[in-house]
Amino acid sequence: SLSETTVEKPVDRSHMSVSDTDVAVEIIGMNKWFGEFHVLRDINLKVMRGERIVIAGPSGSGKSTLIRCINRLEEHQTGQVIVNGVELTSDLKRVDEVRREVGMVFQHFNLFPHLTIMQNLTLAPIWVRGIPKAQAEETAMHYLERVKIPEQANKFPGQLSGGQQQRVAIARSLCMNPKIMLFDEPTSALDPEMIKEVLEVMVGLAEDGMTMLCVTHEMGFARQVANRVIFMDQGQIIEQNEPEAFFSNPQHERTKLFLSQIL
Ligand code: ADP
Ligand code: MG
Repeated sequence: SLSETTVEKPVDRSHMSVSDTDVAVEIIGMNKWFGEFHVLRDINLKVMRGERIVIAGPSGSGKSTLIRCINRLEEHQTGQVIVNGVELTSDLKRVDEVRREVGMVFQHFNLFPHLTIMQNLTLAPIWVRGIPKAQAEETAMHYLERVKIPEQANKFPGQLSGGQQQRVAIARSLCMNPKIMLFDEPTSALDPEMIKEVLEVMVGLAEDGMTMLCVTHEMGFARQVANRVIFMDQGQIIEQNEPEAFFSNPQHERTKLFLSQIL
Protein backbone atom coordinates (compact mmCIF):
# COMPACT_ATOMS: atom_id res chain seq x y z
CA SER A 1 0.00 0.00 0.00
CA LEU A 2 0.94 3.62 -0.33
CA SER A 3 1.56 4.15 3.33
CA GLU A 4 3.99 1.24 3.42
CA THR A 5 6.02 2.51 0.52
CA THR A 6 6.14 6.13 1.51
CA VAL A 7 6.47 5.97 5.24
CA GLU A 8 9.82 4.54 6.23
CA LYS A 9 9.86 2.75 9.50
CA PRO A 10 12.29 4.63 11.70
CA VAL A 11 15.20 2.49 12.85
CA ASP A 12 16.29 3.16 16.39
CA ARG A 13 19.99 3.86 16.12
CA SER A 14 20.18 5.95 19.25
CA HIS A 15 22.38 3.32 20.91
CA MET A 16 24.93 3.09 18.11
CA SER A 17 26.91 5.29 15.79
CA VAL A 18 26.99 4.41 12.11
CA SER A 19 30.29 2.55 12.20
CA ASP A 20 29.95 0.84 15.56
CA THR A 21 29.45 -2.61 14.10
CA ASP A 22 32.75 -2.36 12.22
CA VAL A 23 34.73 -1.68 15.37
CA ALA A 24 36.04 -4.75 17.17
CA VAL A 25 37.93 -3.07 20.00
CA GLU A 26 38.04 0.52 21.11
CA ILE A 27 40.20 1.75 23.96
CA ILE A 28 39.83 5.37 24.95
CA GLY A 29 42.12 7.23 27.37
CA MET A 30 42.78 4.08 29.35
CA ASN A 31 45.11 3.98 32.34
CA LYS A 32 46.06 1.16 34.63
CA TRP A 33 48.11 0.93 37.78
CA PHE A 34 49.52 -2.01 39.68
CA GLY A 35 49.46 -0.45 43.14
CA GLU A 36 51.59 2.66 42.76
CA PHE A 37 53.04 1.56 39.45
CA HIS A 38 51.49 3.25 36.42
CA VAL A 39 51.68 0.36 33.97
CA LEU A 40 49.47 1.64 31.10
CA ARG A 41 49.38 5.34 30.27
CA ASP A 42 46.65 7.01 28.27
CA ILE A 43 46.13 4.16 25.83
CA ASN A 44 44.02 4.96 22.76
CA LEU A 45 43.48 2.19 20.27
CA LYS A 46 40.78 1.39 17.76
CA VAL A 47 40.76 -1.97 16.02
CA MET A 48 38.37 -2.54 13.14
CA ARG A 49 36.91 -5.96 12.31
CA GLY A 50 39.32 -8.07 10.33
CA GLU A 51 42.34 -6.02 11.36
CA ARG A 52 45.53 -7.80 12.31
CA ILE A 53 47.55 -5.88 14.86
CA VAL A 54 51.03 -6.81 16.00
CA ILE A 55 52.10 -5.32 19.32
CA ALA A 56 55.84 -5.05 19.82
CA GLY A 57 58.05 -3.46 22.41
CA PRO A 58 60.65 -4.22 25.05
CA SER A 59 60.00 -6.60 27.91
CA GLY A 60 58.05 -4.89 30.68
CA SER A 61 56.53 -2.25 28.39
CA GLY A 62 52.97 -3.37 29.16
CA LYS A 63 52.10 -5.45 26.08
CA SER A 64 50.64 -8.39 28.02
CA THR A 65 48.78 -6.13 30.42
CA LEU A 66 47.24 -4.24 27.50
CA ILE A 67 45.84 -7.28 25.75
CA ARG A 68 44.74 -8.81 29.05
CA CYS A 69 42.64 -5.67 29.63
CA ILE A 70 40.73 -6.55 26.44
CA ASN A 71 39.18 -9.64 28.04
CA ARG A 72 39.45 -8.29 31.56
CA LEU A 73 42.03 -10.69 32.81
CA GLU A 74 43.29 -7.33 34.08
CA GLU A 75 41.14 -4.40 35.17
CA HIS A 76 41.83 -0.88 33.99
CA GLN A 77 41.19 2.03 36.36
CA THR A 78 40.35 4.97 34.09
CA GLY A 79 39.18 5.39 30.52
CA GLN A 80 37.12 2.95 28.49
CA VAL A 81 37.63 -0.47 26.98
CA ILE A 82 34.85 -1.40 24.55
CA VAL A 83 34.83 -4.82 22.91
CA ASN A 84 32.25 -5.69 20.26
CA GLY A 85 30.26 -2.72 21.44
CA VAL A 86 30.25 -3.81 25.09
CA GLU A 87 32.06 -1.60 27.58
CA LEU A 88 34.02 -3.58 30.13
CA THR A 89 33.17 -2.62 33.68
CA SER A 90 33.00 -4.53 36.93
CA ASP A 91 29.62 -5.86 35.69
CA LEU A 92 30.38 -9.58 35.42
CA LYS A 93 27.60 -10.17 32.91
CA ARG A 94 29.39 -7.89 30.49
CA VAL A 95 32.72 -9.53 31.20
CA ASP A 96 31.14 -12.88 30.35
CA GLU A 97 29.58 -11.48 27.22
CA VAL A 98 32.94 -10.17 26.04
CA ARG A 99 34.86 -13.33 26.92
CA ARG A 100 32.46 -15.38 24.79
CA GLU A 101 33.70 -13.50 21.77
CA VAL A 102 37.39 -13.21 22.57
CA GLY A 103 39.82 -16.12 22.41
CA MET A 104 43.24 -15.95 23.98
CA VAL A 105 46.42 -17.93 23.39
CA PHE A 106 49.30 -17.61 25.84
CA GLN A 107 53.01 -18.26 25.71
CA HIS A 108 52.47 -21.34 27.86
CA PHE A 109 49.71 -23.40 26.39
CA ASN A 110 47.79 -24.06 29.63
CA LEU A 111 46.32 -27.37 28.44
CA PHE A 112 44.93 -29.72 31.06
CA PRO A 113 47.63 -32.39 31.33
CA HIS A 114 45.33 -35.16 32.61
CA LEU A 115 42.83 -34.73 29.75
CA THR A 116 43.24 -35.92 26.16
CA ILE A 117 43.53 -33.40 23.37
CA MET A 118 39.90 -34.11 22.42
CA GLN A 119 38.78 -33.61 26.03
CA ASN A 120 40.75 -30.37 26.23
CA LEU A 121 38.94 -29.12 23.14
CA THR A 122 35.43 -30.17 24.15
CA LEU A 123 35.46 -29.37 27.88
CA ALA A 124 34.32 -25.75 27.64
CA PRO A 125 31.96 -26.20 24.69
CA ILE A 126 30.17 -29.01 26.57
CA TRP A 127 30.18 -27.63 30.10
CA VAL A 128 30.15 -23.86 29.53
CA ARG A 129 28.14 -23.68 26.30
CA GLY A 130 26.00 -26.78 26.77
CA ILE A 131 26.81 -28.12 23.30
CA PRO A 132 26.02 -31.83 22.85
CA LYS A 133 29.14 -33.99 23.13
CA ALA A 134 28.97 -35.43 19.62
CA GLN A 135 28.65 -31.98 18.10
CA ALA A 136 31.48 -30.60 20.25
CA GLU A 137 33.70 -33.48 19.13
CA GLU A 138 32.86 -32.87 15.50
CA THR A 139 33.81 -29.21 15.86
CA ALA A 140 36.98 -30.18 17.70
CA MET A 141 38.03 -32.53 14.87
CA HIS A 142 37.35 -29.80 12.36
CA TYR A 143 39.77 -27.46 14.13
CA LEU A 144 42.33 -30.19 14.81
CA GLU A 145 42.37 -30.79 11.07
CA ARG A 146 42.74 -27.11 10.51
CA VAL A 147 45.83 -26.96 12.75
CA LYS A 148 47.02 -30.17 11.05
CA ILE A 149 47.07 -32.61 13.97
CA PRO A 150 43.82 -34.63 13.80
CA GLU A 151 45.81 -37.80 14.51
CA GLN A 152 46.71 -36.49 17.98
CA ALA A 153 43.11 -36.32 19.24
CA ASN A 154 43.37 -39.15 21.74
CA LYS A 155 46.82 -38.36 23.08
CA PHE A 156 47.64 -36.39 26.20
CA PRO A 157 49.37 -32.99 26.04
CA GLY A 158 52.60 -34.40 27.47
CA GLN A 159 52.89 -36.71 24.47
CA LEU A 160 52.95 -33.77 22.03
CA SER A 161 55.73 -31.39 21.04
CA GLY A 162 55.54 -27.78 22.16
CA GLY A 163 54.51 -26.67 18.69
CA GLN A 164 51.75 -29.27 18.57
CA GLN A 165 50.53 -28.26 22.03
CA GLN A 166 50.36 -24.63 21.00
CA ARG A 167 48.36 -25.60 17.91
CA VAL A 168 45.98 -27.49 20.20
CA ALA A 169 45.67 -24.34 22.33
CA ILE A 170 44.73 -22.35 19.22
CA ALA A 171 42.23 -25.02 18.14
CA ARG A 172 40.77 -25.00 21.65
CA SER A 173 40.14 -21.27 21.38
CA LEU A 174 38.60 -21.63 17.93
CA CYS A 175 36.15 -24.26 19.24
CA MET A 176 34.50 -21.43 21.19
CA ASN A 177 33.90 -19.57 17.91
CA PRO A 178 35.60 -16.29 18.87
CA LYS A 179 35.26 -13.08 16.88
CA ILE A 180 38.58 -11.74 18.13
CA MET A 181 41.77 -13.61 18.93
CA LEU A 182 44.43 -12.35 21.32
CA PHE A 183 47.89 -13.89 21.18
CA ASP A 184 50.50 -13.24 23.85
CA GLU A 185 53.91 -14.33 22.56
CA PRO A 186 52.54 -17.66 21.34
CA THR A 187 55.86 -18.79 19.90
CA SER A 188 58.39 -17.48 22.39
CA ALA A 189 58.49 -20.68 24.47
CA LEU A 190 59.00 -22.85 21.38
CA ASP A 191 62.09 -24.29 19.75
CA PRO A 192 62.89 -22.60 16.44
CA GLU A 193 61.75 -25.52 14.27
CA MET A 194 58.31 -25.39 15.90
CA ILE A 195 57.76 -21.67 15.57
CA LYS A 196 57.00 -21.93 11.87
CA GLU A 197 54.18 -24.46 12.24
CA VAL A 198 52.43 -22.25 14.80
CA LEU A 199 52.92 -19.10 12.72
CA GLU A 200 51.47 -20.92 9.70
CA VAL A 201 48.29 -21.57 11.64
CA MET A 202 48.12 -17.90 12.64
CA VAL A 203 48.68 -16.80 9.04
CA GLY A 204 45.79 -19.06 8.01
CA LEU A 205 43.54 -17.44 10.60
CA ALA A 206 44.51 -14.00 9.35
CA GLU A 207 43.74 -15.03 5.77
CA ASP A 208 40.30 -16.17 6.90
CA GLY A 209 39.62 -12.65 8.18
CA MET A 210 39.96 -13.17 11.93
CA THR A 211 40.43 -10.00 13.96
CA MET A 212 43.76 -10.54 15.70
CA LEU A 213 45.90 -8.73 18.23
CA CYS A 214 49.24 -10.47 18.54
CA VAL A 215 52.05 -9.67 20.92
CA THR A 216 55.04 -11.18 19.17
CA HIS A 217 58.67 -10.61 18.32
CA GLU A 218 58.22 -12.46 15.04
CA MET A 219 58.76 -9.55 12.71
CA GLY A 220 58.51 -11.76 9.62
CA PHE A 221 54.98 -12.58 10.72
CA ALA A 222 54.30 -8.88 11.29
CA ARG A 223 55.45 -8.05 7.77
CA GLN A 224 53.45 -10.88 6.27
CA VAL A 225 50.07 -10.46 7.96
CA ALA A 226 49.82 -7.35 10.12
CA ASN A 227 48.10 -4.32 8.75
CA ARG A 228 49.41 -2.32 11.69
CA VAL A 229 52.33 -2.61 14.07
CA ILE A 230 52.00 -0.94 17.45
CA PHE A 231 55.14 -0.16 19.40
CA MET A 232 54.93 0.17 23.16
CA ASP A 233 57.46 1.47 25.63
CA GLN A 234 57.04 2.18 29.34
CA GLY A 235 53.28 1.71 29.27
CA GLN A 236 52.60 3.91 26.28
CA ILE A 237 51.88 3.37 22.61
CA ILE A 238 54.65 5.54 21.25
CA GLU A 239 54.39 4.68 17.58
CA GLN A 240 52.15 2.80 15.17
CA ASN A 241 52.29 2.30 11.46
CA GLU A 242 51.73 -0.18 8.68
CA PRO A 243 54.53 -2.78 8.74
CA GLU A 244 56.45 -1.54 5.72
CA ALA A 245 56.72 2.00 7.06
CA PHE A 246 57.24 0.82 10.63
CA PHE A 247 60.29 -1.25 9.73
CA SER A 248 61.79 0.96 7.05
CA ASN A 249 61.16 4.31 8.66
CA PRO A 250 60.77 4.12 12.46
CA GLN A 251 60.17 7.55 13.96
CA HIS A 252 61.28 7.31 17.56
CA GLU A 253 64.74 6.60 18.92
CA ARG A 254 63.34 3.91 21.19
CA THR A 255 61.73 2.18 18.21
CA LYS A 256 64.99 2.34 16.26
CA LEU A 257 66.90 0.93 19.20
CA PHE A 258 64.37 -1.88 19.62
CA LEU A 259 64.44 -2.78 15.93
CA SER A 260 68.23 -2.73 15.85
CA GLN A 261 68.22 -5.28 18.67
CA ILE A 262 65.74 -7.74 17.23
CA LEU A 263 66.18 -7.57 13.45
P1 ADP B 1 55.35 -7.03 28.71
O1 ADP B 1 54.30 -8.02 28.35
O2 ADP B 1 55.49 -5.92 27.71
O3 ADP B 1 56.66 -7.68 28.98
P2 ADP B 1 53.79 -6.71 31.12
O4 ADP B 1 52.49 -6.17 30.70
O5 ADP B 1 53.87 -8.16 31.45
O6 ADP B 1 54.90 -6.30 30.05
O7 ADP B 1 54.30 -5.92 32.40
C1 ADP B 1 54.42 -4.52 32.42
C2 ADP B 1 54.97 -4.09 33.75
O8 ADP B 1 54.01 -4.37 34.76
C3 ADP B 1 56.23 -4.81 34.18
O9 ADP B 1 57.05 -3.89 34.84
C4 ADP B 1 55.75 -5.87 35.10
O10 ADP B 1 56.74 -6.20 36.05
C5 ADP B 1 54.57 -5.21 35.74
N1 ADP B 1 53.54 -6.18 36.14
C6 ADP B 1 52.95 -7.07 35.33
N2 ADP B 1 52.00 -7.78 36.00
C7 ADP B 1 52.00 -7.30 37.27
C8 ADP B 1 51.24 -7.60 38.44
N3 ADP B 1 50.28 -8.54 38.43
N4 ADP B 1 51.50 -6.89 39.55
C9 ADP B 1 52.45 -5.94 39.57
N5 ADP B 1 53.21 -5.59 38.50
C10 ADP B 1 52.98 -6.27 37.35
MG1 MG C 1 54.38 -10.07 28.08
